[in-house]
Amino acid sequence: MKLLRLNTKIKGCVSCKELVKTRSQVVVGYGDVSAKILLIGEAPGRLGADVTGVPFTRDRSGVFLQRMLGKLGLNKSEPENELPVLKDVYITNIVKCNPQSSTGVNRSPKKEEIYECRRHLLNEIEIIKPRIIVTLGLPASKALLGDDFNGKSFGKLVNLNEFHVLPLWHPAFVIRGGGRQKMNEKKYTRYFSKIKKFLN
Ligand code: URA
Repeated sequence: MKLLRLNTKIKGCVSCKELVKTRSQVVVGYGDVSAKILLIGEAPGRLGADVTGVPFTRDRSGVFLQRMLGKLGLNKSEPENELPVLKDVYITNIVKCNPQSSTGVNRSPKKEEIYECRRHLLNEIEIIKPRIIVTLGLPASKALLGDDFNGKSFGKLVNLNEFHVLPLWHPAFVIRGGGRQKMNEKKYTRYFSKIKKFLN
């Protein structure tokens, strides 16, 4: 009920002028409302969530993440499903609208957009009350762990008392080759599996 009310409020948000122009729709979180695990991405992708209205669906990052959840038994549907049936997981983004550059491609959300959208994110965390939050990529990890967070700490669990945070590389980074450490799906699965201990 609380979540429904919150999502209605988020869907009516017009705080960021630029995002109101570029978004097709406001994309709120979805999944298991009694989840112990909260996954937080960056923003709806132009070819994915901005079209489907469901975070991490349709685009390559989405299918990758859903496959990862499937391996742990947390996604009961096929990775390509655009309305995934999640168990024990809730998924949202730090920014709920698709940010685009002047050439019409995805861009990272601006600091002020992340700041504006932060109240929605904090309300989601307050309602879901997860035991662990997995942040995907640098902007989401900084949003939870502060601006001093840097990529060297990806994969290391942080205890914030109320909940743990596992900052992980964004799926898009892994798909693009995984940088110098050549992060690939196999290695990523090992890091991702750290969330399993929070299920019991
Ligand atoms: N889709 C999302 O919803 N979020 C991301 O960060 C990437 C793709």
